[in-house]
Amino acid sequence: MTVPPVPLPARTTVGVVGAGPAGLLLARLLHRAGIDCVVLESRTRDYVEQRQRAGILEQATVDALRSSGAAERLDREGLAHDGVELRWGRRRHRVDFPSLTGGRRVWVYAQTEVVKDLIGLQLGDGAPLLFDAPVSAVVGADTARPLVRYTHGGAEHTLACDYVVGCDGFHGVTRNAAPEGALTTFERAYPYSWLGVLADVAPSNDELVYAHSPRGFALLSMRSPTVSRLYLQVPNGTDPGAWTDERIWDELDARFAVDGDWSLARGPITQKSVLPMRSVVTEPMRWGRVLLAGDAAHIVPPTGAKGLNLAAADVIVLARAFEQWARTGSTAGLDAYSDTCLRRVWRAEHFSWFMTTTLHTAPGQSDFDTRLQLSQLDRVAASAHAAAELAENYVGGPVG
Ligand SMILES: Cc1cc2nc3c(=O)[nH]c(=O)nc-3n(C[C@H](O)[C@H](O)[C@H](O)COP(=O)(O)OP(=O)(O)OC[C@H]3O[C@@H](n4cnc5c(N)ncnc54)[C@H](O)[C@@H]3O)c2cc1C
Repeated sequence: MTVPPVPLPARTTVGVVGAGPAGLLLARLLHRAGIDCVVLESRTRDYVEQRQRAGILEQATVDALRSSGAAERLDREGLAHDGVELRWGRRRHRVDFPSLTGGRRVWVYAQTEVVKDLIGLQLGDGAPLLFDAPVSAVVGADTARPLVRYTHGGAEHTLACDYVVGCDGFHGVTRNAAPEGALTTFERAYPYSWLGVLADVAPSNDELVYAHSPRGFALLSMRSPTVSRLYLQVPNGTDPGAWTDERIWDELDARFAVDGDWSLARGPITQKSVLPMRSVVTEPMRWGRVLLAGDAAHIVPPTGAKGLNLAAADVIVLARAFEQWARTGSTAGLDAYSDTCLRRVWRAEHFSWFMTTTLHTAPGQSDFDTRLQLSQLDRVAASAHAAAELAENYVGGPVG
């Protein structure tokens, strides 16, 4: 569909930097609430729509997409999942979400599709969403009218806003709006990465499989009934080109091996990339009239499937706060934004760290540490309490 160009606005209520899931969902929620906003995205629409990333949606994320009118295709094509499988020592154990969490579940629906749905709706409504519009700086965070400087169509522009929200991811520029030393960053790097592949083959399991193996971690996930998404733990600095398709399938086979009848179906690999693993939190998530949401404020290793869901949770809280402010003039929600979100962020950070360090084998890891990991996995299989702790964290709770 060809969309007519939107004239460049010079002024808006909420300036949103970045059209990833955080920026797009926020824009959609604000648009539905009648609050104007402009989204500026440095990349092209095509690039943003094709970028392979997350694929697991919590109930709260699905609810927000539904309430913003963006779930029509998700409800048709998304796959509801009621559990995950853990593998270790050639054993398998299924964690059943509904029975452990009072009926909660997750959905498999790729981030690429969430992004396409949100972009289509926003542009279809004529709401201002500019691609190829890199933001160079956000200034005046401590004034009543912060400014966003960006380029578009070869010219420099300025957007004056009541508030600016940085949804510009880990490498974004909005964080720099706070004076030096105003924000504190907490971080942890992991001594391994993930080699992620997309393969045109039906998933070999109905639900995700998380495998602990002395050869390293592996994850079987999916994007649709005909496309598998698979991951292997690899050393940091790995060149994806060094892994032939055959080597990838052989290694996956070895890491998923279980006693009994199970085999991994192979198919053409259509994409390979390497993803470093890190945990990062920036506090506070607000400085003056500039707020941070999603990966711009925090990163989790993907083992807990939390990155996209945390981004959604932030902007759900933020959209409610903007609605309160627009309706009543109260900034109570905006003032509480950072503290409200950080409680959920740190819980997700802990869970993502727990899943990562329980399932991966670090270089030079001692036998003692491996025994601790296996003991923890045995505990999840033996204790409903331990399984419920994992399940509750995995499916996530209500937002705010
Ligand atoms: C390679 C990769 C793979 C991942 N895989 C998984 C996974 O398997 N499972 C999982 O749960 N999570 C995964 N994640 C995490 C998840 O995808 C992110 O948490 C999620 O994308 C966060 O959304 P966001 O909108 O906050 O940030 P992003 O999706 O990063 O979006 C930020 C947007 O801002 C734009 N931008 C940046 N700088 C500027 C600027 N100066 N001006 C204008 N625009 C700008 C970017 O182009 C981008 O579109 C992955 C992340 C990465 C990076």
